[in-house]
Amino acid sequence: MTTVLGCIADDFTGATDLAGLLARSGMKVSLRMGVPEEAPSDTAAFEVIALKCRTSPVAEAVAECRAALDWLQRAGAQRFFWKYCSTFDSTAEGNIGPVAEALMADLGAAQTIYCPAFPENGRSIYMGNLFVGRQLLAESPMKDHPLTPMRDSNLVRLIEPQVTRPAGLVDRLTVARGSQAVREALDALRADGVAHVVVDAIADEDLGVIAKACRNDLLMTGGSALAMPLPHLYAEDGLMAADTGGATKPDLARDAIVLSGSCSAMTRAQVAAYSATGAPTFRLDPLTLASEGPAEALDWISRQSLDAAPLVYATAEPDQVRAAQAELGVARAGEVVEAALAEIAIAAREKGARRFVVAGGETSGAVTKALGIDRLVIGAEVAPGVPWCFARSGGADVAITLKSGNFGKESFFADALSRLEETS
Ligand code: ADP
Repeated sequence: MTTVLGCIADDFTGATDLAGLLARSGMKVSLRMGVPEEAPSDTAAFEVIALKCRTSPVAEAVAECRAALDWLQRAGAQRFFWKYCSTFDSTAEGNIGPVAEALMADLGAAQTIYCPAFPENGRSIYMGNLFVGRQLLAESPMKDHPLTPMRDSNLVRLIEPQVTRPAGLVDRLTVARGSQAVREALDALRADGVAHVVVDAIADEDLGVIAKACRNDLLMTGGSALAMPLPHLYAEDGLMAADTGGATKPDLARDAIVLSGSCSAMTRAQVAAYSATGAPTFRLDPLTLASEGPAEALDWISRQSLDAAPLVYATAEPDQVRAAQAELGVARAGEVVEAALAEIAIAAREKGARRFVVAGGETSGAVTKALGIDRLVIGAEVAPGVPWCFARSGGADVAITLKSGNFGKESFFADALSRLEETS
């Protein structure tokens, strides 16, 4: 069907998060890895293109996003969403502002809004200041981020150096008066030439008000939560049927594999909890992988019944990770683990696995790439921001769920498998 909303996300797990929230509406959402080379076909009402451009050089990010916009326009979309992180991760050079400005120029849009709030995850904006839980952004752990340290909390001040046209604010007092008031405030700012408008939001209701006010804008920008109300608003407006039919789960063999390359605290607890269920497990050691490759793990997999959904993990405690990194270097330690999990994913698929549970943002990228997956249709959520996805891999239908870092509860791996079983 014709695409109603075209979305561009600046990283992979952010794209899955956005796609999952849109799919909560029950409408069909499709996620593409990168700008597809082929012309749009078999498009969904909601199309999300996942890029990896958060910290690329500005010109590269702009070019990629413009190519994504062009593809989405060819898919029929007339409204667009530029999705970035709810902590506004960017440097003084960009890329949030320059991309927004380039997309506005291509679309002929005089104004856009910036609203990274995600109240469910503790991200709120008040008087233009972004909070992470109870802390200001610049006082939160984001101040020490290795690539995008956030040293100011004020979104108007953060966006100003990234764009060429004036920036402004619609504050919470206006948002509290409803969508008509927000629309009027935006129009008044536009008449004054204000092109980039930060909008306050501290609760989901605020996002509903803002989405309603801006639902016909050519371009909205923000975190994933701002997009959540859009499917129902579009259905109300008659732009699409309320029931476009969500994803249908293909008929899948039960055989499954769980792969974990994340060392985040929650993933460590999830690996322990899954091991305690008695599921077969195999631990990857980066040093062994560096010297001998994944042969032992592949041999182990070949002897497993995939009906028992075995777990292969490199997940380790921080001191073990540091030891491996000291021996191999940070990059090489990551690479050997990612390469091994990628090979194991392929071996499992060849052996009949059709259900893949993957933990780790980078790990998800490596596994998806190895499985040759370039498109995902979004299914039921396992945890907030973590949906099951359906795809084709090696000529077969597969289901895959991709969980980054600290997402999900301790029982995530087992929950994911039973959630898929319940889904029709
Ligand atoms: P998260 O989403 O938790 O950040 P990622 O998959 O994005 O997880 O990142 C984890 C990184 O750590 C990956 O590059 C992975 O290959 C690497 N890694 C996993 N296990 C180990 C280990 N035992 N020692 C060193 N590096 C590891």
